[in-house]
Amino acid sequence: MSGVNPDVRRLSEWGADRLHQLAEAYDTPLYVYDIARVRENARRIRAAFPDAEVSYATKANTSKPVLRALQDEGVGAECASAGEVQRSLDAGFTGSEVRYTAVNPPSEDLDHVCALAADHPLTITIGAADTLDRLAERDFFGKLAVRVNPGVGAGHHAKVTTGTDPKFGVPYDEVPSLLAAAADRGFDVVGIHAHAGSGISGDDLSAHRELVSRMGALARESPVSLEFVNVGGGFGVPYKEAEPPLDIAAVAEATREALGEVDAQLAIEPGRYFVADAGVLLTRVNTAKPTPETLVVGVDAGMTTLVRPAMYGSYHEIRNLAPDAGEREAVETLVAGPICETSDIFATDRVLPAPARGDLLCIGNAGAYGYEMASQYNSRPRPAVVCLDEGEAYLAVRRETLADVTSLEEP
Ligand code: PLP
Repeated sequence: MSGVNPDVRRLSEWGADRLHQLAEAYDTPLYVYDIARVRENARRIRAAFPDAEVSYATKANTSKPVLRALQDEGVGAECASAGEVQRSLDAGFTGSEVRYTAVNPPSEDLDHVCALAADHPLTITIGAADTLDRLAERDFFGKLAVRVNPGVGAGHHAKVTTGTDPKFGVPYDEVPSLLAAAADRGFDVVGIHAHAGSGISGDDLSAHRELVSRMGALARESPVSLEFVNVGGGFGVPYKEAEPPLDIAAVAEATREALGEVDAQLAIEPGRYFVADAGVLLTRVNTAKPTPETLVVGVDAGMTTLVRPAMYGSYHEIRNLAPDAGEREAVETLVAGPICETSDIFATDRVLPAPARGDLLCIGNAGAYGYEMASQYNSRPRPAVVCLDEGEAYLAVRRETLADVTSLEEP
């Protein structure tokens, strides 16, 4: 797909002047989300899966403007905690648009979600048989789905491959009897769910196909009738500038083919695909240190701002927005943050127009699992978030202060 709604928005396409203005107005480090792009991503994915129920895995980015835009685009909310359920309802999702996927759910989460379910008919997806007892104890007999451990996984990193990890979901062969038991106990059994991991990429749809086909087989042998078969998210995005985008139409076709005939609606719940290329992280260079090995470029964002490179070894494009960047010599750099940890590095061996103190750098594809995973480690306040929509810029999350960092401490 191309034209008005391209498959990917590259880092090079973000307007440098606008980003400079935002950095001046809101300081750095600063997350910038383009809400119009979030909407485009939603429209593209809904167009590719016209018959499916499409939800957004809110864990990727729970910022209110993002949630509101996606609700407005007719997408549901898949939530991993009571907090995400609450924030989704607060942002305007209705109960029937919300699914809570309970992974080893703390009692407080079940208390909170079951209380909300009394007024908002949300769906709870369980990943262990004993969660049924815990829901019954809270008088929840509402819409229930079972998360399946499909025994196949996919992912850009072992830490995001969930499909084979016994932590997630009910063993495949035990699912039919659990569905029957739940229905017998009076739960309103509505579906089955699985998520292979994060990283379905264009050149390898085999794990995705296998997961979907196993889910199709399970749906056909289900002892209770199902409303949906949810095959999860994990739709990859190109983190490298030259990497081709996912062919979403091909993924949709492979999904339909692998699912086969089922008497239930297909459901999907990507996270990253909706928001990754709709966000960038702006960071200012504070140190340029030539060393025998490389030019060390110190910036004011760190692994506490964007943890993906430190946590998963993820690649993120970096652009030097200095107005004269085009005339600078291209040099090999190591781009590192201010955190006192060896892993606090955004890029090694990265060739950039020689960064100098004061330059503004822009880190691409930061809209997914960016701010969401930010922390206060090293007593570092979390950054601000600014949204762009229809040409307007507005603050979505204010920058934390040191007072925020210590605000919970007893005197
Ligand atoms: N669904 C579930 C259950 C997940 O655990 C995740 C990610 O961890 C997703 C959906 C979304 O994955 P992604 O953002 O890669 O699409």
